Amino acid sequence: MEIRRTANAGILLKLDGVTILMDGVCREVKPYPATPPETKAQLTAQMPEVVAFTHSHKDHYDPGFAAAALQKNGVIIGPSECHGTMEPLTVGSVRITPVPSRHIGAAGKDTQHVSFVMEGSSCVWFTGDASPTQFRNLSLPKPDVLIVPYAYCNTAAAWEFTQQLGASYVVLLHMPAPTDDYQGLWDAVHSVIKSDISGQPTVYIPDVNKTLTIQLPRD
Ligand SMILES: [Zn+2]
Repeated sequence: MEIRRTANAGILLKLDGVTILMDGVCREVKPYPATPPETKAQLTAQMPEVVAFTHSHKDHYDPGFAAAALQKNGVIIGPSECHGTMEPLTVGSVRITPVPSRHIGAAGKDTQHVSFVMEGSSCVWFTGDASPTQFRNLSLPKPDVLIVPYAYCNTAAAWEFTQQLGASYVVLLHMPAPTDDYQGLWDAVHSVIKSDISGQPTVYIPDVNKTLTIQLPRD
C-alpha cells in the first residue's frame, strides 16, 4: 500500500488500487501545517475515489475542498458537520467503515468525530483525533497499519496502549515542522520510541507530501 501525507493529520491511502483521502486537505492551525496549495489543487483536479473527514476542526478539514469532493463523488464519509454520511462504503475490494469515536480532551464533548477502518488485503485504521483508550472497548478487526496523531506516541503510557492494538506499522501524523515545534513534540516522541527496546511496531513520521510504501505479507 501507499500512504502519502497531504495535510497536517491527513493522508492519501492507496490500498488494493483504491484511493482514499482522509482528513487530506486542511487549513493551518499553528504550529500544524496546512495542505500546500499545489497539493490541494492537484487533489481537486484528480479527486480520489473516496473522500472522508473525521471531524470539522480546521487542522483536519477544508470546507471548500469538501464541497468540491461532494460535487465530484456524490458522497463524503464522515460526520454531518463535515457534510458526510456514516454509511460504510465498498469500492473495489476495499470496505471503508466509519466508526463513531470521541475526540481527545475537552473537545470530545462537543465535536462530532469518527474514525475509519479500511479492510482489503490489509487492515488500516485511521483514528483522526480520537482518544486512544476507547478502542480497547470496541470489537474491530486488528489493524496491520495504524495511522494516528502524536498523542498515541508522546508518552510511555500512550505508546504502551498503542502497541497493544497489535499493528505492524504506525504512521504518526499531526506533527509540526521541526522548526515550529515549540511544544517539544519531536523530542517527546523520539524519547518514547528510543526507550522502547522492542522496536515494535515500526514507526514512520512522514513529511507533508512524502509517500511511504508499506509492503505487508498479505499484499
Ligand atoms: Zn481536532
